[in-house]
Amino acid sequence: MRYKTFGKLGYNVSAVGFGGMRFDTTRTDAENADLVLYAVDKGINWLDTAPNYCDDRSEDILGRAVRQLGSRRREVYLSSKGQPQECDTAEKARAAVEKSLKRLNTDYLDFYYVWCIRRLEEYESAMRPGGQYEGLMRCKEEGLIRHIAVSTHLRGPDIRTLLTKNEFEGVLLGVNILNFLYRWDGVTAAYNQGLGVVAMNPLAGGVIPQNEQALAFLAENGETPTEAALRFCISCPQITVTLVGFTTREHIDTACRVAERAKPLTEAHIERIRTHLSKNLNSLCTGCGYCMGLCPVGIPVAGYMQYYNDKLLVGKNDEQMVKTLNIQKKFGILVGAPSAGQCIACGRCEKACTQHLDIISRLKDIARWEQQSAS
Ligand code: SF4
Ligand code: SF4
Repeated sequence: MRYKTFGKLGYNVSAVGFGGMRFDTTRTDAENADLVLYAVDKGINWLDTAPNYCDDRSEDILGRAVRQLGSRRREVYLSSKGQPQECDTAEKARAAVEKSLKRLNTDYLDFYYVWCIRRLEEYESAMRPGGQYEGLMRCKEEGLIRHIAVSTHLRGPDIRTLLTKNEFEGVLLGVNILNFLYRWDGVTAAYNQGLGVVAMNPLAGGVIPQNEQALAFLAENGETPTEAALRFCISCPQITVTLVGFTTREHIDTACRVAERAKPLTEAHIERIRTHLSKNLNSLCTGCGYCMGLCPVGIPVAGYMQYYNDKLLVGKNDEQMVKTLNIQKKFGILVGAPSAGQCIACGRCEKACTQHLDIISRLKDIARWEQQSAS
């Protein structure tokens, strides 16, 4: 395993982190905890989780692994998270920390994130007197958490704004080989401030492994696009830990293999990728699910946006999109979905979208394909 220094805190952390958001929920917690222990044995010492991940089982799974680690608990960096909307008072923030500690079978967390900042108003809400940050500061004073960090899906310049007051000791960002153009400003702002930078979504939420053919331009010298994407984050000097959501031992083996030999991408390689990344390719739905359950008319926004990825990735024309739509509605992710044409443009999904996608406009395209399909 390759290790890096976590910013000015100076911790020696593995370049690959265990992201606890993609456990196979058809397996038992014991089987999934074994996966975590396998990763630790391979040298991964950064373990990340949050409430609600994997049908709300992730913290319990990590907790089981932590118990089995015994005294080796001190050799790993364990993190969890709380959202400002849910932890809107200092008391609720503390209660959330206590719940995570209990589930994780530990008496301290190394890092605790003010979680999922998508708009600067959410950050401001966390920082207001009597709010989440104040509660976390008290937890820190009592030794329940060692460091307060922030996790954000803001665009680069807004990330810079978020960090100006030096309130956080680490930052978790969704950055990868497909979206780095619009997040890079944030990465460099954090790095230059001496913060450890943790990259989430290095494989764009599975988009890269699922579209290797269309994304062949990402790779070079016989590597796969997935390996190139991992190499991009792992070898990047500004990124400290690359969080990978592991499901199998093979995933761990691949990430460890890439980490051991990863050389930074050359300027020419990055330039080639930059040229290929059209404006649209930067705007893929990662399937993160943050828009789910919000639509007043029940439109499965994530499903439609995942389907729309095909247009961006493979450049399908209208006729091909109509054909794919019919297949998805009969057999795929859109079975039983209300029509995209029912969107009333309320904007709730766009407000929640971690990738800032123009969902309403895309749904209009899809509604047009629905009409073509019906005619
Ligand atoms: S903008 Fe449309 S799809 Fe999005 S939540 Fe509102 S009605 Fe639903
Ligand atoms: S539409 Fe946005 S919020 Fe919804 S799953 Fe896709 S990227 Fe995530």
